[in-house]
Amino acid sequence: STPVATFCALTKAATNGLLIKGGDYLEILAKIKVVAFDKTGTLTKGEFSVTDFQSVSQDISLDNLIYWVASIESKSSHPMAAALVDYGCSNSIEPKPENVTEYQNFPGEGISGEIDGKKIFVGNKKMATRARCEIGTQISINFLCRWDYKILLTLSGIGFTVSELEKEGETIGYVFLEDIQIGTFSVADTCRTGVAEAIKQLKGLRIKTAMLTGDSYSAAMRVHDQLGKAIEFVHAGLLPEDKVRFIKELKEQGPTAMIGDGVNDGPALASADIGISMGISGSALATETSHITLMSNDIGKIPQAIRLARRTRRKII
Ligand code: ADP
Ligand code: MG
Repeated sequence: STPVATFCALTKAATNGLLIKGGDYLEILAKIKVVAFDKTGTLTKGEFSVTDFQSVSQDISLDNLIYWVASIESKSSHPMAAALVDYGCSNSIEPKPENVTEYQNFPGEGISGEIDGKKIFVGNKKMATRARCEIGTQISINFLCRWDYKILLTLSGIGFTVSELEKEGETIGYVFLEDIQIGTFSVADTCRTGVAEAIKQLKGLRIKTAMLTGDSYSAAMRVHDQLGKAIEFVHAGLLPEDKVRFIKELKEQGPTAMIGDGVNDGPALASADIGISMGISGSALATETSHITLMSNDIGKIPQAIRLARRTRRKII
């Protein structure tokens, strides 16, 4: 496009809360055929609340468990962490991050740390492997529909509470003391307003959509249902490198944009034709690796920006 048209478009986008790091990206944006979304913190608000917390060990009290988890989570910037810290506080349990040593973050899996001389892991099922432990079953839920999963869990004698929670599509967290599971909790999140409309608009622009999430298949399906099943491709249980692999796959359909907020989205954002980060809540890494920052966190600005980019491109000729 002409330099003037590009300049005007970049300025207009900026007033709308989209920081585009150069005119070249505006041109690519006009050609986008696929938009891939991260789930947690992108399609959803990333404002979790704890809906259940249980100790599964007779030797460890629930209060002690909550204290360990809340203290270690105080060190994490993951959207789930704040909910677990708040949960401690609302149960009159003061988290003590200063008592945590050896803190480690495993993107797409969870966190670990030492407290009271104990090595604690908090995260999803992948943490079980990391803690060299099985959570009752080795069946991978990603390839099973929800009902199959529930039946298998029942057959394999897994605790009813956990399977019920997964059915609701809440995110389940597991707590391990070294290689022994000592706790289970569930957290719920809600979709951002305007996301369903934005996806509809993208469809109108003949753009396909995908969800790439590190969360469980059932949690992904809950969001998918809430968005009226309008998203074409849903992939769950992904590690950062799996997100990159799916971006490469989606690129075969045409220029692909990826939108994410987390540290775990960094590599996928960088490997997409256009990486878009969430401005307000996004991690620094996501912002650095992205080509566009969505200052307002408003997903509705994305179809708007694509329309603007397409109009600007037509001004070349
Ligand atoms: P998404 O790709 O949807 O943004 P993430 O990759 O950030 O999700 O996280 C994937 C999963 O890893 C979460 O659903 C959670 O189960 C687990 N996880 C990540 N960070 C933490 C944490 N700080 N505490 C507990 N669990 C975590
Ligand atoms: Mg995220």
